[in-house]
Amino acid sequence: MSIVAGNWKMFDGPDPHALAGLDAIVCPPYTRLRDCVAAGLTTYAQNVHWEPEGAYTGEISAPMLLELGVTGSLVGHSERRQLFGETDEGVARRTAAALEAGLHVIACVGETLEQREADETQAVLRRQVSVLDEHERLVIAYEPVWAIGTGLTATPEMAQTAHAFIKSLLDVPVLYGGSVKPDNATGLFEQPDVDGALVGGASLDIDSFRAICEAARSRS
Ligand code: PEP
Repeated sequence: MSIVAGNWKMFDGPDPHALAGLDAIVCPPYTRLRDCVAAGLTTYAQNVHWEPEGAYTGEISAPMLLELGVTGSLVGHSERRQLFGETDEGVARRTAAALEAGLHVIACVGETLEQREADETQAVLRRQVSVLDEHERLVIAYEPVWAIGTGLTATPEMAQTAHAFIKSLLDVPVLYGGSVKPDNATGLFEQPDVDGALVGGASLDIDSFRAICEAARSRS
């Protein structure tokens, strides 16, 4: 089984109808969730709060997402961690609440370049994964921060090593994310512990996203 998810970030993204029939998850901005659900796409939010409601300006809750027909959410994306100060503790609370409410979760982990160069990759992954509990609706995305939106990709071997390590900590599927494109997807999907991809930039282009989905399907 290979899972491909497209993170549209804060971009409007493609016409959801053009993606109909694709075996993939889309994570559009909040304003496009309804359109994606209506087009029959498996739709995830890009974040979710741990409380069902309350005075949390700018946040959205799991029951609100479920009411829209949303299936799941990303949690702990490195852009949330780096630019908006999200912590492991917050990621744990968001993940637990979303799962408890009935959503699926893709929880993102990954080291910075500085941490990799200081040989801290495993320690960082251990810390980030240790706050999560195994769950049938939980998937982890390994996204080395230095590979996100930079055009740098972990080699298939680097991804495999990190994925095997994560799976030794938690027995859940692990997606790779970080500049996945049609021309590097096959090599990544060939790795035994790469269970799919979380795709950012390339998911905004329908042809690229479709090609990545096809590469995933020919592996599974
Ligand atoms: C992401 O946003 O999760 C991501 C991996 O982005 P990109 O594919 O653009 O590196």
